[in-house]
Amino acid sequence: MTVHVRGALLPNGDVRDVYVVDGRLTFIRPADDVETLATEGFVTPGLVDIHAHLELASPAGDGAPPLEKIRASLSAHLDGGVLAVREPGGPSRMSTGMGPADGLPRTFTAGRFLSVPGAYVPGLAREIDEDDLPDAAVEELGHGTGWVKVIGERVHGGRFVPSFRPDVIAETARRVHAAGGRLAMHVSQPDAIGAAVDAGFDSIEHGVLAQREHFVEMRRRGTAFVPTMIAMAAMLPHARDMVAAMGVDPAAADELINAAQRHGRTVAAALDEGVRVLAGTDAAIGPHGMVRLEIESLIAAGMAPADALGAGSWDARRFLGLPGLEEGAPADLVVFGDDPRHQPGTLGSPSVVVLDGVVVKRSGHHLADG
Ligand SMILES: [Zn+2]
Repeated sequence: MTVHVRGALLPNGDVRDVYVVDGRLTFIRPADDVETLATEGFVTPGLVDIHAHLELASPAGDGAPPLEKIRASLSAHLDGGVLAVREPGGPSRMSTGMGPADGLPRTFTAGRFLSVPGAYVPGLAREIDEDDLPDAAVEELGHGTGWVKVIGERVHGGRFVPSFRPDVIAETARRVHAAGGRLAMHVSQPDAIGAAVDAGFDSIEHGVLAQREHFVEMRRRGTAFVPTMIAMAAMLPHARDMVAAMGVDPAAADELINAAQRHGRTVAAALDEGVRVLAGTDAAIGPHGMVRLEIESLIAAGMAPADALGAGSWDARRFLGLPGLEEGAPADLVVFGDDPRHQPGTLGSPSVVVLDGVVVKRSGHHLADG
């Protein structure tokens, strides 16, 4: 039977009837019987978490095999109305190919984190020498789903410094783009941010020490900013111990921690300059399935509520190359009872979830619950 939903379609808010036929959305009522799942409410193309590490902080527990961890994390996202996830790096490449065929959100992974030795959480990154980054990046692109993730900074002489020379970053971006891929950099150090932006990296992750001049250039180039606000806030109480353990001297630690405390103002500056800001939780630091909290943090930083919802829904989908609620689009939709642009709390309880034409949840009950 054909599934039917009536509601206000976001972002534009027009009340329309939408049907799911052969896994695709259509606004044309089909001739056969329809099963109506909602007659009111607010219809989105689903939420998106643009920054989540599926093998880390998995509900399956640290002892579970990698694939089980990935599946459990993706299930937690799906429960939260998230239909697409970008994984900017992981300890393995095992989430490659995961998606609706497994009953799980569309997954875009960068393969393994790329870092110079000793600059990232022990055991997580594929460690490479500086000059090997371009080759390694093209290799990881071949093992992932369209993305490469570079850890852009390391500690040297008590301070964060760029891990890679600007010419290496530029060559890496050139080769990955030529191979049809895109690049994200984990980075807060200003010179490293500048090199990534100038090289044409597609997104800047965290960016705690980003400056207005970076945002001007990011706006010009269309670089996305993923501030991972809830993760930065969660790390603040431990930040001093963490950076001290990495060998950062107290003055440099103060600079970073002060900036992390002002992260909301940095996000506001990015918005001011017209930078595309997207909602990523950095799940690993916190649990999976919580992008609604990042959306609320973006609103608290001054982002217009409708834009913040877009940052964790239709605009993030567009960034990933996924359509919204359009005729002929793959049938991804999530219905909320209240208007999530004005009551973001409603994001925690979607009433209908359809992933790639399959009804995952309806009327507040999971299908698995009967
Ligand atoms: Zn991360």
